[in-house]
Amino acid sequence: MLDGCGRDITYARISVTDLCNLGCAYCKPRPVPKLKHEDILSVDEIIALANDLVGAGFTKIRLTGGEPLVRKGILPIARGVCEACTDVRMTTNGVLLARYADDLRAAGITRINVSLDTVDAEIYREVTGGGELKAVLEGIAAARKAGMSVKINAVLQRGVNDDPLPLTEYAASVGAELRMIEMMPFASTLGYVSEKALNAEEWARALGMLPVSSDGGHSDGKVKKFSYRGAEIGVIAAVSGNFCAACNRIRITSTGMLLPCLHGSKAYPVRDKIGSKEFAEYLRSLLALKPLSHGIREGNYQQIDMGSIGG
Ligand code: SAM
Repeated sequence: MLDGCGRDITYARISVTDLCNLGCAYCKPRPVPKLKHEDILSVDEIIALANDLVGAGFTKIRLTGGEPLVRKGILPIARGVCEACTDVRMTTNGVLLARYADDLRAAGITRINVSLDTVDAEIYREVTGGGELKAVLEGIAAARKAGMSVKINAVLQRGVNDDPLPLTEYAASVGAELRMIEMMPFASTLGYVSEKALNAEEWARALGMLPVSSDGGHSDGKVKKFSYRGAEIGVIAAVSGNFCAACNRIRITSTGMLLPCLHGSKAYPVRDKIGSKEFAEYLRSLLALKPLSHGIREGNYQQIDMGSIGG
């Protein structure tokens, strides 16, 4: 479905819960306001939403959170959304992945992104507000064993993973693709971001990383691939690069608010329209409002935290 700027919007990220079992410093500072059960989209509503999106021309859906694996009913959600759409992926912190990997695979999830910033247990605990690295590593092993392809997403942070070697070696050892993502500023995390954020491309070049292909390493306009000590690292310059011209996505929060832009100030309710005949037309009217570009560089920071939007 085309937006107001002529971009074909085909990718929806659906947050299935606002709750998370971690409290990452750059994502969702604790404490978070508690939502009521009835405020959150039900399993059936999420599945119906996926069907509506596919009916409107969407081809890819990502289940996210909060942390999707803490959502009660995540397996029926995964199953139903996989029945609706052929390309369904999940982004998880991996803490509960060992428990769910086989069932997620059986539900139809074959590709999973695991957020992992470091393989140092102590630093992991600090960054995530108490997370246990061991559980995540077991989760990744279980996902690989279940036959899923795994991408490891690490938010680039000074003093955490600016030496990428341990993560690079770990990712290679488990057959996972590693992507280092520039930290994005949100209104609630500006302090941490100003202290820890790095320009991803400058960082990669300072370490002597070389683009892997003649097109400068661009595989999809967003992920730039670099070679580093015989391995490949995807670098996503989410802030210093601007991918808005090629943006093909929308976000829907766990309460059914649609954000045309991750960093836009506007969110629109879609819950009432789920399963209705007007859904596609309503969606079209919202996509017409998708801004040409985010305003991060002008200092227009998102007031909703990343954990509530879903990344
Ligand atoms: N709990 C799940 C997880 O950890 O993957 C899904 C939700 S989380 C909001 C999705 C992704 O957003 C994670 O990879 C996380 O690292 C990333 N993220 C959160 N805050 C960010 C920020 N300020 N800049 C860049 N990425 C961020």
